[in-house]
Amino acid sequence: MKELEYLYLDHAATTPMRESAFEAFKHAEEVAFANSSGGHQLSRRAKNLLEESRDFIASTFGAAPKEITFTSGGTEADNWIIKAPFLNSVPIDRGLVTTQIEHEAVLSSAEWIKEKGFTVNFVGVDKDGVVDVEEFIESCNKETLVASLMYANNETGVIQPINEILKKIKDVNPEILFHSDVVQAVASEKLDFHKLGIDSAAISGHKIGGPKGIGVMFLSSKYKLPNYFHGGKQELERRAGTVNVSGVAGLAAALKEQQENLSEEKILLERERKIFEDTLKEKLQITIVGENIKRLSHISNIQFKDINSETLMIALDLKGLGVSRGSACASGAQKPSHVLKAMKIDIDDINSHLRFSFGWSTKDGDGLNAANIVLSTIKGIL
Ligand code: PLP
Repeated sequence: MKELEYLYLDHAATTPMRESAFEAFKHAEEVAFANSSGGHQLSRRAKNLLEESRDFIASTFGAAPKEITFTSGGTEADNWIIKAPFLNSVPIDRGLVTTQIEHEAVLSSAEWIKEKGFTVNFVGVDKDGVVDVEEFIESCNKETLVASLMYANNETGVIQPINEILKKIKDVNPEILFHSDVVQAVASEKLDFHKLGIDSAAISGHKIGGPKGIGVMFLSSKYKLPNYFHGGKQELERRAGTVNVSGVAGLAAALKEQQENLSEEKILLERERKIFEDTLKEKLQITIVGENIKRLSHISNIQFKDINSETLMIALDLKGLGVSRGSACASGAQKPSHVLKAMKIDIDDINSHLRFSFGWSTKDGDGLNAANIVLSTIKGIL
């Protein structure tokens, strides 16, 4: 990919495509462009590439190939898993338990379920953005169909206590489908879905250096969900529509490169983030969300005391540093972050937070450069 004269620290919104993903995507379009459902040899080539990619992706996450369905991204996978179990159920008492800090893909699906008359609990979080474990467990009962808890939050990077919650709610109701949106976590954590004990997960290609418009729904073979799209018999008859084979090949290649380099990438991300945060801490009054608890290596959510984050974000952009105020959807809509609101941060303080997210294209020295840009920019606007 061509280098841009811009320091990009918005990898949590999306990442540039890795060279290997770009090559795999291009190669697939050139030699495996045929419809993977067709009967001729070019179709078989596409189908083989699709299934090889599925096998690799499944094995990366400790899953079986038939537990992997390709989707258009994380949003579709979240929507499918949250809504589909309710399609054939009667509203009375059947419910969903989730949290106030999920991505909009989960939250809006949950609101949709609620409007249909099902019980939905949006469990709160503490001041660090960690879900209230007791409240989550108490909200689950024998009638709960789905429990959905993201592995880590996309605005703060804070990792959620899935282990602590999972076993206890399965003791109460072994049938609960435990879903985890791992879209952001996959960017810097190694995950094995069965070891983790989750029943379903949503993954997105463009958060790990793969193409946009491709994602994965992992669903344990213990469960079967009603189809969400109707039409052709693709994806083991689960998801209709011509399969995006080049997107799948790009995603598999990005994942391969990422998995091979995960330990080194993590070291680099943590080092650059630390330099960034330490440099700012020396000179400014800042608060780092989740500083002393478990958080993803690539996200740093910072409150700059008495500085308007929108003004700062625009000024940083003019100086060649790209960051965001929260999730891409929320920041585009200029709404105060629902995640920071759930953490009971008051509105003026919410408006002084920025999210800096490092990623695979981060280089040695980016942390210090970014901190120096922030320091000089703040000097200029104060
Ligand atoms: N879930 C989380 C935690 C995310 O960060 C995102 C993307 O911002 C999504 C879901 C949606 O993924 P996609 O853009 O592939 O639909």
